[in-house]
Amino acid sequence: MRNPVLATLGVGANLGDPRTAVRKAIADLARLPDTDMVGISSLYGSAPLDADGPDYVNAVVQVRTALSPDALLAALQAIEQKAGRERPYWNAPRTLDLDILLYGAARVDHEHLQIPHPRMWQRAFVVVPLAEIAPDLVNPAQMQAVSGQALHRLDG
Ligand code: ATP
Ligand code: CA
Ligand code: CA
Repeated sequence: MRNPVLATLGVGANLGDPRTAVRKAIADLARLPDTDMVGISSLYGSAPLDADGPDYVNAVVQVRTALSPDALLAALQAIEQKAGRERPYWNAPRTLDLDILLYGAARVDHEHLQIPHPRMWQRAFVVVPLAEIAPDLVNPAQMQAVSGQALHRLDG
């Protein structure tokens, strides 16, 4: 088995009961094989960016995992499927979206998988929760770059 790697994952939902969907997904992530949960951000609410539908609920988590990037992506997609995700069109509202943001310091550039996630630093709903659980991974310029985007921390 490969050495465990610290992976950073984005969790988002904006259909049905998105807070419950995000909490449940985090519980599912904590149960992945060869994977330990090491950090969970608060939940954050935001209006959809380049997308339609109700407000999003987002969180960022860190796991220490022995799964390869491909195995981790497959596991995330299985959790999405279980949550009833459909893809009627690009950027459609969804019950659950799980993205690999970072996988240690690895760079992956395949057609089906890019790490670091190519759009993560443009998104307040990624950068702000990431800074909450891993402040060393976010610098002031990166925080400043998303400061114009409305985002609010949800209670509890
Ligand atoms: P965005 O990638 O801009 O956040 P999205 O999450 O809505 O958009 P999806 O429809 O969920 O996009 O995913 C489309 C494809 O993106 C997936 O089938 C997957 O193969 C690919 N993909 C590439 N890089 C990643 C990554 N780092 N994490 C998750 N999926 C990725
Ligand atoms: Ca996404
Ligand atoms: Ca995705």
